[in-house]
Amino acid sequence: MHVDSGVDETINFSSLQHEPREELFEKKQETQTSEKKNLFMSPNELVGYVRKLVDNIDNINHLQDAVENFDGCSICKTATKTVFSDGVASSEVMVIGEAPGANEDMKGIPFCGDSGQLLDKVLSSIELHRAENVYITNTVFWRPPGNRRPTDEELRICQPFVEKHIALIRPKIIILVGSTASQALLGDLGPVSKQRMRVFEYTNCYLDYKVPCVVTFHPSYLLRQPSQKRAAWQDMLFIKKILNS
Ligand code: URA
Repeated sequence: MHVDSGVDETINFSSLQHEPREELFEKKQETQTSEKKNLFMSPNELVGYVRKLVDNIDNINHLQDAVENFDGCSICKTATKTVFSDGVASSEVMVIGEAPGANEDMKGIPFCGDSGQLLDKVLSSIELHRAENVYITNTVFWRPPGNRRPTDEELRICQPFVEKHIALIRPKIIILVGSTASQALLGDLGPVSKQRMRVFEYTNCYLDYKVPCVVTFHPSYLLRQPSQKRAAWQDMLFIKKILNS
């Protein structure tokens, strides 16, 4: 009934009843202050703020909390849900995509739409399954409006989160799907077709080792260009060899 009348958020009054009025007032002020702080920070200041925020985080649940509570990026404000990760955190394989799309934004799960189904199929060709031995995330945690590519500024603001994310997972290999993920982690190395079937070494200030990193086509691209699926399957065999070495 509420939804029919345009209401999409309800407040649980039973939980509010137990909080003294002053506490509620203080909470509101705190939120307003942090929103204001973010609003007046330059992109460089925001990156520094995120860096400080994640520097001392030492477990994945705290990182997820920090990401979910962050509101300094404009895409946080337009997205429905934060899309943090899916899969098994102790996996040797970490897959990093571009950004959540419409399905992901609705469900809060990365790669849960058509491109996700294809990604699962490609991964399963070398016995990688998100319920068992793969961990999946993106370079940004919120859907950019209209599924546009994340801006360089959005990527830069999320970068410390992503760096800490990788350091906490400590993968044996990173699979970067698509040019945005590759550019965010490795810099601009040209088209994916020139990067695939090569091993790059990735590290960051939170890592004490170099992670082998492989770039492959984004599944959305494969859906548009099915003739490239053969190449994606080759990439998987290449990855399997590295994992077995
Ligand atoms: N495309 C991506 O890059 N990531 C997702 O999570 C979904 C689609």
